[in-house]
Amino acid sequence: MNTAELPPASLRLRIDTDALAANWRVLDSMSGKASAGAAVKADAYGLGVDKAVPALRDAGCRQFYVAHWSEVAAVVQHVPASQVAVLHGVRSPVEVAYAKATGAVPVINSLKQAVLWHSAGGGRCHLMIDTGINRLGIAPHEAGDQAIAALKVDMLLSHLASADEDSPLNASQLQRFTDAAAHVAHNGKSLANSAGICLGAEYHFDQTRPGLAIYGGVPRSELDGKIAQVAWPEAAVMQRHKVSAGESVGYNATFTANRDMEVATVSIGYADGFLRARGKDCALHNHAHQFPILGRVSMDMVVVDCSADNSLSEADFLQIPFELPEISQKCGLSQYELLTTIGNRFQVCA
Ligand SMILES: *Cc1c(COP(=O)(O)O)cnc(C)c1O
Repeated sequence: MNTAELPPASLRLRIDTDALAANWRVLDSMSGKASAGAAVKADAYGLGVDKAVPALRDAGCRQFYVAHWSEVAAVVQHVPASQVAVLHGVRSPVEVAYAKATGAVPVINSLKQAVLWHSAGGGRCHLMIDTGINRLGIAPHEAGDQAIAALKVDMLLSHLASADEDSPLNASQLQRFTDAAAHVAHNGKSLANSAGICLGAEYHFDQTRPGLAIYGGVPRSELDGKIAQVAWPEAAVMQRHKVSAGESVGYNATFTANRDMEVATVSIGYADGFLRARGKDCALHNHAHQFPILGRVSMDMVVVDCSADNSLSEADFLQIPFELPEISQKCGLSQYELLTTIGNRFQVCA
């Protein structure tokens, strides 16, 4: 057995759990009479359930949404299973058995799922109505079906397709949701994601379900200045060397030096979520200087121009820009993609 101590990582991800908790509180308070839950699927949008869920719980969050059954175990380390809802619902008897064994609560998404759940003894569940995103959920006209009437529905859910835009679809989904809800017995209703919270009190109902904005994303201008950056990635300089005028850097030689220059090779690449789209017109930085990226992003490294700083040396860490709205604008990846593609080679620290 290998008992050697793991050396410190050359990639660090600082998670500001105070900022995360503060973001949730802002969203909870903007939700008015409704209480905010939290989407923690995809390992809390890439930032880590083990950091995010305890911070959200301690801030007062009492409802957590994941997508897959495989995500339940990590979340119930920190909160009661009855507070964990599984958005993909129960698609097979094995999933029903897992739901019963863990106590996590399925979000029923179809008449077929309703029958499967009820015939296995049922119990508390949530119900998704598809009001226009055409993804998962029962159709509004199915709300009065006897398979639905047999369920013990706690939260009645629907999901907005275009809450981050001023689209007429928002009001139309709101109307369809309210109409369909009249045909189902339920304890509470939930419609709004992060952006939906900004659409006003009619969208809040009993519970909101923010995800993105908890983790520092800003999907609508109403949240400008209210949401703090949570994730702060940084990567170590592995090597510093000279490149002579006329030499090129990186795969396919897309950058050629027009002068002798000092460059540094930094330990982050597209396998760490630093996709090639992010390398374009991008600079890494430390507190004093900017270090423009030269050439292509590789799988495990990038090369930066460090002519500006003679003191930058091997093992120094550089900050990776991660202001989600700005970076998304610049590289064309969504704020969701920037978060959820963060790789697993980072050492997560507080
Ligand atoms: C992911 C998800 C959310 C959270 O959405 P954000 O846009 O990240 O705030 C809410 N509800 C459902 C059903 C989701 O799938």
